[in-house]
Amino acid sequence: MGHVTVAAAEEILDKEVKVLDKGFVRLVDYYGSDARIVQSARVSYGAGTKSVREDKMLIDYLWMNEHTSPFEQVVFTFHCKLPIFVARQWIRHRTARLNEISGRYSVMKSEFYVPDMDSISFQSKDNKQGRSHDEVPKELRQKVLDTIKSTNEFAYEKYESMIEDGIARELARISLPLNLYTEWYWQIDLKNILHFLKLRMDHHAQYEIREYANAMADTVKRVCPFVWESFEEHTLHGAKLSKTEIGLLESIFKNKDVDKTSLVFRQLAKKLSFLA
Ligand SMILES: Cc1cc2nc3c(=O)[nH]c(=O)nc-3n(C[C@H](O)[C@H](O)[C@H](O)COP(=O)(O)OP(=O)(O)OC[C@H]3O[C@@H](n4cnc5c(N)ncnc54)[C@H](O)[C@@H]3O)c2cc1C
Repeated sequence: MGHVTVAAAEEILDKEVKVLDKGFVRLVDYYGSDARIVQSARVSYGAGTKSVREDKMLIDYLWMNEHTSPFEQVVFTFHCKLPIFVARQWIRHRTARLNEISGRYSVMKSEFYVPDMDSISFQSKDNKQGRSHDEVPKELRQKVLDTIKSTNEFAYEKYESMIEDGIARELARISLPLNLYTEWYWQIDLKNILHFLKLRMDHHAQYEIREYANAMADTVKRVCPFVWESFEEHTLHGAKLSKTEIGLLESIFKNKDVDKTSLVFRQLAKKLSFLA
């Protein structure tokens, strides 16, 4: 079997999917599909193609049991435009290969991420890494936007003037803010993009990187619809329980008294929201 295309993926190939105010993700290329995973997994048993139903069941079995190597046979290449602060979080996912625009070689464009009025939030009091749901007064939100915009304009004007004075681009750029947009080509296999999506689609991840993860999730779903179903079932909407949590669940099933104020109950209720 050579390179087999998937109709749903071909529809979005090379098309920019808008993310945030000026960013995008664009699927440049992909290799493989559900069929490639099945084909490579069956090499273990020397068996050929079976029915679609059996293929789907095999994929689900492999994913559920963390037999992940066949999932590394599928590869995606994306062209992304993203703010530098998002890129810093993104780059922690070490198994990808990437090539980024060079601020030493090119003059950076005056393109800065400015959040929506609605996503301006207070610092959360219970989550040190997150935003609060309390409403920020409109005047304060406007003040924040004005501050971000004027800081960007000031920094870019100084950058341009250093460039005009003939200062090296690699030096002039160091005073540009973290919300400047950068671009890269990012290539990753299916197993590792699913790991990325699990972490970055989660509500604990910062809103801005979540927006990119959500955009790429649609691509993965198009290329490998069976895998996506298993990923949603066992990973995205599934839950991993500790020994103590399983013990507590057993007590609940056996109608024993449980301390609903305990840390372990609260942890379990977070994972199994129906308990809350
Ligand atoms: C909500 C959230 C908050 C975070 N907060 C912080 C923070 O405050 N500070 C901070 O520094 N980071 C933070 N991170 C980043 C986090 O700690 C991880 O670095 C990041 O999520 C990448 O995860 P990973 O290492 O599993 O992924 P990857 O690097 O993609 O690795 C995927 C898998 O490959 C394995 N692997 C990768 N490279 C190697 C290698 N060289 N050798 C052996 N195994 C390898 C990994 O163990 C992992 O199982 C945060 C992440 C999230 C999602």
